Amino acid sequence: ELRWALIGATTIAREWMINAIRQNGGRIDSVMSSDAARGRAFADEFGIPRSTTSLDEVLQDVDAVYISTTNERHHGECIAAARAGRHVLCEKPLATSYEDAAEMIEACRIAGVVMATNHHLRNAATHRAMREVIASGALGRLLAARVVHAGTLPIQMLGWRLKTAGAGAGALLDLLVHDTDLLRYLTGDEPEEVMTYAQNGGLAIEGIEDAAMSLIRFRSGFLAQVHDSFTTRAQETSCEIHGSDASLIARDNMAQKPAGTVTLRDRNGERALDLDPEDYYVRGTRAFVATIRGEGRPVATGEDGLRSLAVALAARRSAQSGKAERVEGS
Ligand code: NDP
Repeated sequence: ELRWALIGATTIAREWMINAIRQNGGRIDSVMSSDAARGRAFADEFGIPRSTTSLDEVLQDVDAVYISTTNERHHGECIAAARAGRHVLCEKPLATSYEDAAEMIEACRIAGVVMATNHHLRNAATHRAMREVIASGALGRLLAARVVHAGTLPIQMLGWRLKTAGAGAGALLDLLVHDTDLLRYLTGDEPEEVMTYAQNGGLAIEGIEDAAMSLIRFRSGFLAQVHDSFTTRAQETSCEIHGSDASLIARDNMAQKPAGTVTLRDRNGERALDLDPEDYYVRGTRAFVATIRGEGRPVATGEDGLRSLAVALAARRSAQSGKAERVEGS
C-alpha cells in the first residue's frame, strides 16, 4: 500500500485526486495546508489522519506526495519532497519560471524519485483515440490544429487565477499548458515559437489576461491556433487536427469530466470514433503508481511539464513584446 501526503488542501484534491489516489489503492496519511483550521477540517472531511502546516512534517513517513498548491509554491515543495526521498506527482503549471521547473526535475532525478505532471487530458478516451489514428498515418501529413479551451470558471475557481500575479494567474499559465501538452501528445511534435495576443475581458484584475489567442509553430512546420479563455459562457471546447488526407475533430473534450466526441473526416465521409471513457485522474494516477513499482512510465513526465510551461511563458512574453517568441529549451 502506497502512503501519500497531500500538499495543499485544494479544490482539485477534493474534487478529483483524493478519489484517484484511493481508487489506485493509495492510503492518504496526511495533508498540509497553510491554514491549520482549514487543513484540519479538510482532513476530517476526507478521513485523513494527520494535518499540518509544516512541510517537513507532512513529508514524514510517506512514499509519495501530490502537490496542488498555487503554482509559485510547487518549486520549493517539490524539491523538499524529492530531497526527503518522496515520489512527486505535481500539478501544472509545474512552476512560474522555466528555471524553477528545471530545478524540480533535476532534484527528482538526483533523488531517484519518480516525478510526474498532472496533465490529465492525455488520459481522455477522446485524445487517446485521436493519438492512435494519427500514429496510424491516416491523416497524411500533419499540417494544422485549432484548439478552443474556453468557458466560464466555476465559482470555486474565481480566486488567485484572476488576481494573484505571483501565483501564476492568468489564462496562459492555467490553460495553454494543457493545450500545448495535448498537441505534443497527439502529434509527437515540439513547439518552437509562439505569437500571442492577451485579453482582459473584465473578469481578471487589470494586468492579468483572462483570455488569449496564440499561434504556435512546431518543429515540423505544423501550426496551431489556440483560444484560451475564462470569460465566455456558451462556448464549446474543441480540438481539431488537420492533415493532408483527413481531419480529426473533437468536441466538448477539454474538460475534467470524461466527455466529448471525436469525428474522423476523410474523402469517404465522416465517422465517429468508438471511445471507452475512464476518469482521467484515476488513469493518470495509476500510471504514476505503476512507475513507482517499476512497471511503467508516467503519462506525463516532469520534462513534459517543463515543455508545456515553456510555451506558456513564451506566450506571456509574446503578449508583452508584440512579437513572436522562441520557446525556451526548444
Ligand atoms: P485552490 O484555489 O483550491 O487551492 C490553491 C491554494 O489556495 C491551496 O494550496 C490553499 O492553500 C489555498 N486555499 C484553498 N482553499 C482556500 C480557502 N477556502 N481559503 C483560503 N485559501 C484557500 O486551487 P485549485 O485546486 O484550483 O488548483 C490548485 C493547483 O492545481 C494549481 O496548480 C492548478 O493549476 C492545478 N489544477 C490542475 C487541474 C488539472 O486538471 N490538472 C485542475 C485544477 C487545478 P493551502 O494549501 O495552504 O491550504
